[in-house]
Amino acid sequence: MIIIDNLYKRFDSLEVLKGVSLSIEKGKTAVIIGPSGSGKTTLLRCLNLLEIPDQGTITLGNKTLDITSRIRLKQAEMVSFRKQTGMVFQSYNLFPHLTAVENVMEGQLSVLKRAKDDARKKALFLLEKVGLHDRTDMYPFQLSGGQQQRVGIARAMAMDPEVLLFDEPTSALDPELVGEVLQVMKDLANEGRTMVVVTHEMKFAGEAADQVIFMDGGVVVEKGTPEDVFNATKNPRTLQFLNKVSDR
Ligand code: ADP
Ligand code: MG
Repeated sequence: MIIIDNLYKRFDSLEVLKGVSLSIEKGKTAVIIGPSGSGKTTLLRCLNLLEIPDQGTITLGNKTLDITSRIRLKQAEMVSFRKQTGMVFQSYNLFPHLTAVENVMEGQLSVLKRAKDDARKKALFLLEKVGLHDRTDMYPFQLSGGQQQRVGIARAMAMDPEVLLFDEPTSALDPELVGEVLQVMKDLANEGRTMVVVTHEMKFAGEAADQVIFMDGGVVVEKGTPEDVFNATKNPRTLQFLNKVSDR
C-alpha cells in the first residue's frame, strides 16, 4: 500500500532524510515517533509531495514515483499522486472565513469539482462522524481547538484519500481536549483506514498502531509492533528516547 524505499531529502547543506525505507499495509495504522528534528514532518511532507524528495521511490496505492535528482516531476503527475493522501496538520489550518461545513466542502468543490449539494451532504455526514453535527455552521473562532482539529480530520477525509497523514495532530491542544481527537483517530484506525500518524502520544500508539516506527537523525532506527518497540527493544537509541518521553 505504502512503500518508501531509500528516500533522501536535503535542505541546502542539511541532510534531513538519509535513506528512509518503510512499508505500511493497506488498512493499517503506522505511528512514527522520534525526537524533534529527526525528519518526521519532512517524511510526511515528502509522502504527499509538499516537499519533493531528492532521491528514492515512493509507492502509494497503484502509483509509484521513482525520483532521481535529474527528474522534474510533471504537475499533473504530482496532483494525481497527492490526491491519494489527506493531511491533518498540527495547527489545523482551517480557513477562518469559512464555517465548519464550508471548510469540509472547499476541497471537494475546488479540487474534486463535486456538485455543491453532494459536497455539502458529504461534509455534513463527516462532521457528524467526528461528533460535530451541532457545530456545522460555526466559524473556527467559535470552536475549541479539539473541535477545530476534528473539522480538520473531516476535511481530510472528504477527499476520499487512500491514506490519512497526521502530523502531531494533538500537540497544539490543551490537555483536556487531546482525548476527543485521539478517540476519533482510534475509531478511524478500527474502521480500517490506512493512516500514518506522527505523535508523541505513546498510549495512543500502544493502542492504535499496528506498527511503530522510531526515527532519529533522518533514518528509521527501529520498527515493529508496539510490543516490539515499547516493551522488547534492546536498541540503546530507542531506549533513550522512550525514557525521555516517559519522564514528561
Ligand atoms: P521533526 O518533524 O521530526 O521535528 P522536521 O522534518 O520538521 O523534523 O525537520 C528536520 C530538520 O529539517 C530540522 O533541522 C529542520 O530545521 C529542517 N527543516 C525542515 N524543513 C525545512 C525547510 N523547509 N528548510 C530548511 N530546513 C528545514
Ligand atoms: Mg514535526
